[in-house]
Amino acid sequence: MELDKMDENDWKYHGEGNKSLVVSHLSRVLRLLKYPAEDSENPPQMLLFSLQEVVKLPLEFVRQLSIKVQHQRPAWRCDKVMDIYSGCALCLPNLTSPALHQPTHTPPLCIEIKPKCGFLPSPKHVSKDIKTKVCRYCMHQHYKVANGKWKRRSFYCPLDLFSGNRQRMHFAIKHLIEEPQNNFKVFKGGQCIYSSKEGSDDSPDMTSLLHHLRPYFLYANNRINSHMTSKAVLNDFIQVLVNALLSGGGGVGGVVTDRRVEERSFCEASIFNKERIRHGSRGLPSDSVLFRILQTQMLDTLDIEGLYPLYRRVEQHLQDFPKERTRLQIEGPYNEAFLEKLQKCPAEDDGSVEYAVAKVHQYRVAMTAKDCSLMVALVPSGEEEQEDNEGPPAFSYSVSILDLDPKPFDSVSRQLRLDQKIVSCYLRTGGALP
Ligand code: ATP
Ligand code: MG
Ligand code: ZN
Ligand code: MG
Repeated sequence: MELDKMDENDWKYHGEGNKSLVVSHLSRVLRLLKYPAEDSENPPQMLLFSLQEVVKLPLEFVRQLSIKVQHQRPAWRCDKVMDIYSGCALCLPNLTSPALHQPTHTPPLCIEIKPKCGFLPSPKHVSKDIKTKVCRYCMHQHYKVANGKWKRRSFYCPLDLFSGNRQRMHFAIKHLIEEPQNNFKVFKGGQCIYSSKEGSDDSPDMTSLLHHLRPYFLYANNRINSHMTSKAVLNDFIQVLVNALLSGGGGVGGVVTDRRVEERSFCEASIFNKERIRHGSRGLPSDSVLFRILQTQMLDTLDIEGLYPLYRRVEQHLQDFPKERTRLQIEGPYNEAFLEKLQKCPAEDDGSVEYAVAKVHQYRVAMTAKDCSLMVALVPSGEEEQEDNEGPPAFSYSVSILDLDPKPFDSVSRQLRLDQKIVSCYLRTGGALP
């Protein structure tokens, strides 16, 4: 990519989240920041988390690009505008266009999942009992529907996805497909072919998804000329996804069963019937990406309620000693020294600001892991390998993580307010309903 020869015509709109807009060109994407339209005097500052990925783009290119993609942006995302002033962007590998893809063969399928938080907080730190029974995602669903963000509640529960139990994972993915919201997308050959439209009454087009998926699943079981029901296509698709999510990085990872964790891994709001787990929960293989995400999420050991007093301690300290901001790495940089602070956290609160800072840092990292997405790339194996195969066809797969933004220090106080709103809304409206 030659930065002085950037042409907006090469780049196409790829997608966006709450904070950034992404354009793609072949094997690369550019991730540009967005900010609220009414803040046009205060364009955002790029958090320099990963220096080598940041590129400085010609401003004219960025301006033309923002005009070009504007009409492709979903209306509900347009309360924010793309940053056209800094010229800064992250240049990342395009995870929907994996390198293993050979253009002459069937295009790869890439499935993006934003799993959210996969465990319940410990009863020690929470003031409302319901938080130890119903997971944050399920409670948040009621809040979002009550506030009109989504028309329908999703029956996806992250605790099912993170369970490591095949049936529960299957169930979770089925509900992600039925109500994808912003937690599920499918890309084919780098193009998004399935996602949700916020605020819309329409369900996403499952028939069209199945139409795209069918050819990938017809090969197996000599189904080439035979009929395959939509239900079977969907089941095979989900089964392949579960396999990919349970697969490891090639190492020999065992299954970790931690009793304390197991008790906190079932959500009462999930409509998955507990009795259907005949052989008990399995737990995630320790070399799976899901396991690593969950471990990182669990750095949030105190829940926002237990953390907040420590956050206040740090805030007070910074008021008294403003110069400490740098030493304590409140705004980063998120480097080795930051990681060390996080890892060297004493087990017990000794009343120090160091302990408080370490817990706040851990919480922020956990928040990043609760907000990240994973991309499962499925590349069909050659047909010859599939002959007289039973079950779904073979794919080679890779699982990567995206959207790993550091959460700002002051997001902690916002989190406390949001937590209170979600819990009280659930107790008011949702808790009574099945
Ligand atoms: P969120 O609101 O979830 O925090 P965000 O604003 O931080 O989102 P991202 O999730 O990083 O933005 O990017 C928006 C979308 O762009 C993603 O959901 C994904 O579909 C796509 N995307 C981002 N990075 C990549 C990548 N490296 N390769 C392919 N697609 C990507
Ligand atoms: Mg995202
Ligand atoms: Zn749940
Ligand atoms: Mg993000």
